[in-house]
Amino acid sequence: MPEGDKHNDKYVYLEDVAEELDMAFDDSTTFYNTETGEFTYYSENFSNEIDQDEFEDEKYIALPSRYDIREYDMMAEFADALQDERKSELLLVALEGKGAFRRFKDTLPRVGLEKEWYKFKDEAFVEVARKWCEENEIPYKVRSGAYAGSAKGDREPWPDKCSICGNDAKIHISGAQEASYCLDCHNKHMAALTGAEMPDAVPTQIVLFDACEEAHAFSIESMIFPHCKSIHATEVVGTTRYKEAVYGEIDDSFEGMWVKLVSRLEKVLSKKYMGDDASIEDLKAVGYVEYNSIHEAYEVIIDGKAYTWAQLEKNLSVHEGWKIKIEFADMSEELE
Ligand SMILES: [Zn+2]
Repeated sequence: MPEGDKHNDKYVYLEDVAEELDMAFDDSTTFYNTETGEFTYYSENFSNEIDQDEFEDEKYIALPSRYDIREYDMMAEFADALQDERKSELLLVALEGKGAFRRFKDTLPRVGLEKEWYKFKDEAFVEVARKWCEENEIPYKVRSGAYAGSAKGDREPWPDKCSICGNDAKIHISGAQEASYCLDCHNKHMAALTGAEMPDAVPTQIVLFDACEEAHAFSIESMIFPHCKSIHATEVVGTTRYKEAVYGEIDDSFEGMWVKLVSRLEKVLSKKYMGDDASIEDLKAVGYVEYNSIHEAYEVIIDGKAYTWAQLEKNLSVHEGWKIKIEFADMSEELE
């Protein structure tokens, strides 16, 4: 081995490179130090121990950025290749327009394809890592054997218990540090990584009253993601199915988001769009679309009640010759 050919005596594990790729933030660059075998990142928005100029040293090789990785294309490829046309279409629709990543991830559990997507994504990230190693002549090894060329083994099913506390797991982390977490342990983990506050200010349930003094009980779930935060309210018990969500930036306070969510829920509960016989009372109705897997049909949930298109059709005959506006918005956006 010739002197000065620094790359040749160090190797990386593809899974480690893939994990670094997956952890990268939009505005940061991760560098591989070919002398120490370590990964360091640089971002204008974080304080860095290492000066930007130092990364110009040839011992540092930049990893592909979030933009280069094209995770969006991976999602589209995954959705497109599905045998099940309905699931495929649902995921492709989720990928349209603003907030595509979030919608895609929200849709996965509804079509029961979370595990399949993360397996697909893991493999795709490992392939990005392999390509990067080959282009930069960095020797690599594969840790698990699962990604060794075409001999891709099926992964074990996700554990259903949190790897930290043993409660029911809700979130599964893929990659080299594979783990399953309950919501609380996931948030603690993400809070430690991002510096975000824990959602302690947000309760896990709330009961609110509508205009008719009827009680509606909501289960509340707060979550911290690498780039954002969310609070979801889902009505439990009872006969209605109201739902609302608020998303915030990573620095937004959970308390502020909670206030916003409650005021939105109160507003929604104070309105009643539908009259008896599935008629829209005041020329306008706002709701959300949900797939009903028992009826195998899409429903429109208005006033917390599910309507089929056939039921809503009555409104068409009444308004023949009228104009109609149909508008879609992300679950976290407010439609008036
Ligand atoms: Zn836990």
